[in-house]
Amino acid sequence: MRTRLAWVWMASSLVLANAAFAEEPARQKLPRVKILATGGTIAGTGASTTQTVGYTAAVLPVDRLLAGVPEMKKVASVGGEQIAQVASENMTHAVWLKLAKRVNQVLATDEVDGIVITHGTDTMEETAYFLNLVVKSDKPVVLVGAMRPATAMSADGPLNIYNAVVVAASSEARGKGVLVTLNDTINGARDVTKTNTSAVDTFRSPDLGFLGYVQDGRAVFYKQSTRLHTTRSVFDVSKLDALPRVEILYGYANNSRVMLDAAVAAGAKGVVHAGVGNGSLFDEVKQGLCEAQKKGVAIVRSSRVGSGIVARNGEANDDELHFVVSDTLNPQKARVLLALALTRTSDPDEIQKLFYQY
Ligand code: ASP
Repeated sequence: MRTRLAWVWMASSLVLANAAFAEEPARQKLPRVKILATGGTIAGTGASTTQTVGYTAAVLPVDRLLAGVPEMKKVASVGGEQIAQVASENMTHAVWLKLAKRVNQVLATDEVDGIVITHGTDTMEETAYFLNLVVKSDKPVVLVGAMRPATAMSADGPLNIYNAVVVAASSEARGKGVLVTLNDTINGARDVTKTNTSAVDTFRSPDLGFLGYVQDGRAVFYKQSTRLHTTRSVFDVSKLDALPRVEILYGYANNSRVMLDAAVAAGAKGVVHAGVGNGSLFDEVKQGLCEAQKKGVAIVRSSRVGSGIVARNGEANDDELHFVVSDTLNPQKARVLLALALTRTSDPDEIQKLFYQY
């Protein structure tokens, strides 16, 4: 079905090249931003303008995304590249590693000042945190997505992608780690999480707050994370072609160790337990975790609550049991950090230090 937006894209794509930074002289001084596309709802299409769920994600290629927002050419010289085309529930370590290596390669040149990554919103926070730990550059890297497909009435993708280009082109965004920009707010990769299944203001940084706003072509920052990232991070993926297997287990009443035992039998090198409350453990699960730890599996206690510190030696004697606590990282972020930590060490004390630094 030919929607209004599809018409705009068709018209605009006649005049836009996709990949090169082929800009006329007047634009040569603009910051140069590269868009790396991975799919998601921002590249999704539905059957009608009123369809905001049940659409197909990851359909439109990067040149169509660029063509749909010609305004971005006023703030940056923009080129695009397709890295993947997936709904982000299907994001994999293989794509993370490909993306991270490409980001590092592109930013190491003098030809690009910042990167925007289009991505599905479901696992955007995990990709953002992974990149926050492995990108080796101070230049801005900004993840962006949309909650409504490109064909929907009031689609949020076009303004979100424009804002992301504004942030990536901004010198203010340098050195702040990997950023997530949707719905006019700028969030840090470490603390941001998706909080609503379908609302456009789904991305929040619970308790710790977002870093700034982007408004009318201007990125404004009010704070930044104190934790290590990018150029100060020790994690290096340049020689990695896989990540250690880390599983997440969920805490709930009347729990059992069935899932834990399956994870260990499948060869998990680490387990993140999304415990109840302050990372509390059901007795049978705790017993299983102790046994797994003795077999060399790294155990991280996180929480399903969604905000707050998981206190070391609070709901379990972590010193004695050789467990690690996730600090304020939610389980899915803790999984990312644990996988990277395991590329360097299997010592629980060393892993704990990393959880307090990153
Ligand atoms: N399932 C979609 C994805 O994560 C949702 C979105 O992009 O908002 O790719």
